[in-house]
Amino acid sequence: MSDEKRVYRFGSDEQGRDVTEGSASMNYVLGGKGANLAEMCRLGLPVPGGFTITCQTCVAYSGAGDVWPQGALDEIGEATRDLERRMGRKLGDPDDPLLVSVRSGAPFSMPGMMDTVLNLGLNDEAARGLIKQTQDEHFVWDSYRRFIQMFSDVVMGVDAEQFENALTEKRLVAGVKSDAELSSGDLFELVEEFKGIFQAHVSASDHPELVVDGKIVFPQDPAVQLRLAIEAVFGSWMNERACLYRKRNGIPDDLGTAVNVQAMAYGNKGESSATGVAFTRDPASGENVRYGDFLINAQGEDVVAGIRNTQPIQEMGSYPALADAARDLERIFQILEAHYRDMMDIEFTIEQGKLWMLQTRVGKRTATAALRIAIDMVEEGLIDRETAVRRIDPAQLDQLLHPQFDTHTAPDVLARGLNASPGAAVGEIVFSSDDAVQRAGEGVPVVLVRWETNPDDLKGMVAAEGILTSHGGKTSHAAVIARGMGTPCVCGVEAFRIDAAAKEVHVEGTDVVLREGDIISIDGTTGIVVAGAVPLKRAELTGDLETILSWADEIRLQPGSTHPYHVRVNADNPEDAELALGFGAEAIGLCRTEHMFLGDRKEIIQSFILSDDEQERQAALDSLLTVQREDFLKMFKTMDGRDVVVRLIDPPLHEFLDDPRSLEVHIAHLEAAGAPAEELEALKARLRRIDGMAEMNPMLGLRGVRLSFVFPELPLMQVRAIASAAALLIRDEGLAPKPEVMVPLVSLESEQVQMRSICEQVIDEVAAEYGVALDIPVGTMLELPRACLMADAIAQHADFLCFGTNDLTQTTFGFSRDDAESKFIPIYLHNKLLERNPFETIDEEVLELVRMAVEKGRSVKPELTCGVCGEHGGDPESIKGLFNVAGVSYVSCSPYRVPVARLAAAQAKLAEMA
Ligand code: PEP
Ligand code: MG
Repeated sequence: MSDEKRVYRFGSDEQGRDVTEGSASMNYVLGGKGANLAEMCRLGLPVPGGFTITCQTCVAYSGAGDVWPQGALDEIGEATRDLERRMGRKLGDPDDPLLVSVRSGAPFSMPGMMDTVLNLGLNDEAARGLIKQTQDEHFVWDSYRRFIQMFSDVVMGVDAEQFENALTEKRLVAGVKSDAELSSGDLFELVEEFKGIFQAHVSASDHPELVVDGKIVFPQDPAVQLRLAIEAVFGSWMNERACLYRKRNGIPDDLGTAVNVQAMAYGNKGESSATGVAFTRDPASGENVRYGDFLINAQGEDVVAGIRNTQPIQEMGSYPALADAARDLERIFQILEAHYRDMMDIEFTIEQGKLWMLQTRVGKRTATAALRIAIDMVEEGLIDRETAVRRIDPAQLDQLLHPQFDTHTAPDVLARGLNASPGAAVGEIVFSSDDAVQRAGEGVPVVLVRWETNPDDLKGMVAAEGILTSHGGKTSHAAVIARGMGTPCVCGVEAFRIDAAAKEVHVEGTDVVLREGDIISIDGTTGIVVAGAVPLKRAELTGDLETILSWADEIRLQPGSTHPYHVRVNADNPEDAELALGFGAEAIGLCRTEHMFLGDRKEIIQSFILSDDEQERQAALDSLLTVQREDFLKMFKTMDGRDVVVRLIDPPLHEFLDDPRSLEVHIAHLEAAGAPAEELEALKARLRRIDGMAEMNPMLGLRGVRLSFVFPELPLMQVRAIASAAALLIRDEGLAPKPEVMVPLVSLESEQVQMRSICEQVIDEVAAEYGVALDIPVGTMLELPRACLMADAIAQHADFLCFGTNDLTQTTFGFSRDDAESKFIPIYLHNKLLERNPFETIDEEVLELVRMAVEKGRSVKPELTCGVCGEHGGDPESIKGLFNVAGVSYVSCSPYRVPVARLAAAQAKLAEMA
């Protein structure tokens, strides 16, 4: 036997003494479920006894190619015998059998992604023993048929539909609507039929251990059942949906899952038995009310699977047979919240009036609820403000910024369901996950419409804008997953009679029939479904979000042991600047001036680029000066008193020109139509000029500061526009504009030196012209490795540095930012060559370049402001590295990401101070 402990007991011994070996802190060993089962035992809560096989055992088993590590099976055998002793019952006993559940439980919650087997230990003899004990044939045959069904599906991979078909046929023959109405005779027959299905679909060569007298039989030995079930749970760690879930949620693949083997408690033992799931607070709104569903006379999976319609937890106390259990449950809710100081999610079973806790974990919640709960818990004295700020997932804030139905329009409600996950979505109806993936891949927004979803639907749910189910409650699979992903979801739309095969929906009570491709709108905040497209609007930041963000600001802006962590915005026009101020941006970290050359202004820049005529070019420059100055006037006014970093023109100029291929086609058409030679010649000359500007690698070509040397008139015009707009505001309006000029794509110290002198000359001229003092810093944008390597030299001529991490990523990797993400990064991610898309989350070597350049820059100017304005400035994980590792002064990101960045910056600061 190896020294490593692979099995941990929980629950009581035969004398009722707690023998629990684990605790909540052992998440990575026992998985979330095992660790919290142990913790609940320590709190003295009623938990059926059991044991947990460690995650490390799963890793060792899978790593060895599905071979058990030495001694593990012996340890499990010993723990099983110990459990039998503690429970006073034996697996497979012909008089009083012990039955167990076998459940997965990874270190991070992965709802519904891995496998579970209930009622394990039943065989022909044990079934008769259980009948002796319970005098309840109906319950026993129902449990046995469930076990065969689940074991066959989950452990042996037999198609679940085989069993569903047999069940449906039995219901039809018996003339009943639900499984619960089947007689014990029907259920007994089903047990035999299910064994037959097992026999017909399991291969003897794959499972020689199940062959008896030359035939496959459903395993009667509980030890064999248990080993196969544990192996299946280990195997489910690597199933497709679990892998996809982990990828989406950034959970490492090498953690493995624990397996919990636990004595069964029966929720299907008649009217005083029930099963349910609940949250200590409302996970959708965060309101401090109990929330959940229960089902009388049912087993656990029935509630989560959304197969039967459930009742709200508040109604449980009104059933006399369940009233005591309801009271106990309320007491346990209070104990759990006081202990964990968080909103908890629980699973429970009531067996003949007695409450048993099967699981607890910190509950998943919507962004709205996360904010409400954090603030309430601070007010209740359960947690402090720092904990509240730490608890909000910055990525989840996106939910609040999701579109909503525009309330000014009163949409014509087609049907109503449960408001399962907030936000509104509009899209084409699709009826399967594959169709969702396909249409979404073609760029068409879709709403996935299903009777219910199951874990295999994950890819479709990821692809869809919204999800609608006609069945299931707010804790059904669709609801839980959609909330976690922040995807709008309406579930339980009972009026929808979905025929997925025919790809249509009949809406009950109307003559409406919706077909694949029809547009619908759903509102997951209110549960409303509308035919056609409803206009959407975005949420405003108010109330709870403001409170949390104001706490986040207090944290991130305090000087303390580290510098304040500032957040700026990338904005190119006054509207975005206004919006970003509302979102809490402190300044503009990047104004991409070329965006001011689009729309009507494209023609002006075109005539500058294409004309040979000096006068025409000068006229174009004059017009550009006028329009740019107008823009800057508005921007600086909006941002009065705040820094506005204006970047000189950056992209290759041919981006402003017509597409040469379309121009060629146009010329050919004109030629064919006999257009005058003069007109044709002018167009051909234009085409030659456009062709002459083509580059093989434009992103590494004539762009950035290089443009300013090839077309020196451009920076002169731009700096003049910036400086004169500032001068006008100072002189005529008494404002305090604070523009800064930033030189892009610098790789040589000399580029910065010359550009700086050009800028200063123009600024001085303008200051003299308007009779005002102008203090306009000139900084460098660091986007190339060479510039980072010599940041100390560059810093001598720069008033600030700002890292363009988009280009820095491109040039450090040599990955084209325009092509890599569609061409090979997905393959690199899939093959685990890369762990993250480096254009989304900053790569550690790129981060090292930033760190090094900041250090070099500050070695010559200790107070040098160093910012980041690439996309990484809005990515929570990158933000942490940029502040805590590289030591930047600010991050700058697009307006809608500003709230996320404020929160992430506060969390980074808390991590740094810890
Ligand atoms: C960058 O390269 O990170 C950057 C902000 O500039 P742009 O994306 O405009 O190239
Ligand atoms: Mg760039």
